[in-house]
Amino acid sequence: MSKRYGIVIDLERCIGCHTCTIACKLENGIEEGSWLNVETVGGDGMDTPRGEYPNVKMHYLPKLCMHCDEPPCLDACPLEAISKRDDGIVLIDNEKCDGCEACIAACPYGVILLNREKNVATKCTLCAHRIDKGLEPFCVICCETEAMYFGDIADPESRVSKLIASGKAYVLQPEADTGPAIHYCPPMAPRKIGV
Ligand code: SF4
Repeated sequence: MSKRYGIVIDLERCIGCHTCTIACKLENGIEEGSWLNVETVGGDGMDTPRGEYPNVKMHYLPKLCMHCDEPPCLDACPLEAISKRDDGIVLIDNEKCDGCEACIAACPYGVILLNREKNVATKCTLCAHRIDKGLEPFCVICCETEAMYFGDIADPESRVSKLIASGKAYVLQPEADTGPAIHYCPPMAPRKIGV
């Protein structure tokens, strides 16, 4: 059976330190936050909660290409510059891309950017170059709270599959029906003061 690589991110463990975005920048020679960005889910600004003390809520959400099973970006590209490998990794061929932005409009997750200098679409590759050498994506390796788990989501015995099967994990925008390979475990409910 083919492998399907994916990541499970435990939002209870993510502290919003952005080490993953720095790791991505260093490994891929890109601008920080362009392929992987850590969003604040809470108030209007970064690191701000919603609500009023003591009833405040906030968590962090690392966002990257979901390496969809049915990628709308691939279908939208008029130049067939986007492909999905047998292991599920979705890649953009910059030699074929002419920067038309059709994929950017089609992606429900807003994770493709236009490199204006080179006029090509660009996004996370799941560190395919590392995976091909038997290594894990660099963001996963560098996460200091070990909030990211990488593995084969097609293998029911893998750690990522077991986390997904636990029933806690979810995908972003399930209504888009794209079959994301990136899953999230939610943060715990806020504890009540004095309890
Ligand atoms: Fe394509 Fe967006 Fe899905 Fe990534 S998340 S495979 S860019 S549609």
